Amino acid sequence: MADRFRALGGEILTGRVPEGAAIEDGRVTEVHVEGRVIPTSYVAWTGTVHSLARLLDLPAPKVSYLALVCYYMTLSDGPPHDFQWSYHGTSDIIFSRISVPSNFDPANAPPGKRAICVEVSCYEGDEQYEHPERILDRLADDLVRERVLKSTEEIESVRFERFAWAYPVYHLDYRTELKRFDKSLASVKNVLRAGRLGKFWYNNMDHCVGAAFAHADKIAANLTGTPSKKEVAA
Ligand SMILES: Cc1cc2nc3c(=O)[nH]c(=O)nc-3n(C[C@H](O)[C@H](O)[C@H](O)COP(=O)(O)OP(=O)(O)OC[C@H]3O[C@@H](n4cnc5c(N)ncnc54)[C@H](O)[C@@H]3O)c2cc1C
Repeated sequence: MADRFRALGGEILTGRVPEGAAIEDGRVTEVHVEGRVIPTSYVAWTGTVHSLARLLDLPAPKVSYLALVCYYMTLSDGPPHDFQWSYHGTSDIIFSRISVPSNFDPANAPPGKRAICVEVSCYEGDEQYEHPERILDRLADDLVRERVLKSTEEIESVRFERFAWAYPVYHLDYRTELKRFDKSLASVKNVLRAGRLGKFWYNNMDHCVGAAFAHADKIAANLTGTPSKKEVAA
């Protein structure tokens, strides 16, 4: 898809955060990225609703995202089961989920190596998020208590990675907050909230891809003036 897009003259920039936008007559006309001014027909936003509010200078909704620290551990043995993931929900266990990437596909680990990914949820900026290394002993003990490992000695190496906005948090008033945000966002006509973060919707990859196609259809129809697939089907 990227190749086809580029062949048609499109440009794909990754790893950059837009720092500003210009709005004229209720439309985003340009986005500013690292000193470049990029003219826009449409903006599909897959970042958090807070970052979108900041970009467009709108009041941010009072909603939050749960963060995640993933600990990747190489092991000398085990894990002693063949399922790809397991959830661990008791409050005295520090992790919430274990996955075994090589049980999904052996190509996910070097030949002969055993590894697990241990997930600990937290909030961006809290102690666990800022200092993931401080809970390594507790993590190892809990893995033994949950019988994921026979002994803490099995852990050969640990690497961790932080994800600041892994999951939307559904407080009782999140719908009201999002509605309020959408009301102010309605003043800007060519911005679409998209994806898990942008939609604040706890969806999976297939839904995100499906929704992206629907967005693309809508944008293409509006740009060319032709009816969307949905309108044709109706
Ligand atoms: C731990 C975990 C396990 C999961 N397991 C599964 C699974 O097994 N199966 C499944 O179907 N789904 C799974 N999901 C869900 C799936 O990953 C998401 O639903 C999907 O990736 C969301 O797609 P997206 O395009 O919305 O977001 P992403 O894939 O996260 O893409 C959003 C993009 O926006 C970029 N971005 C964010 N903010 C900004 C900004 N301010 N400026 C510029 N760029 C920005 C990000 O860098 C990122 O590239 C899992 C999610 C998590 C967190």
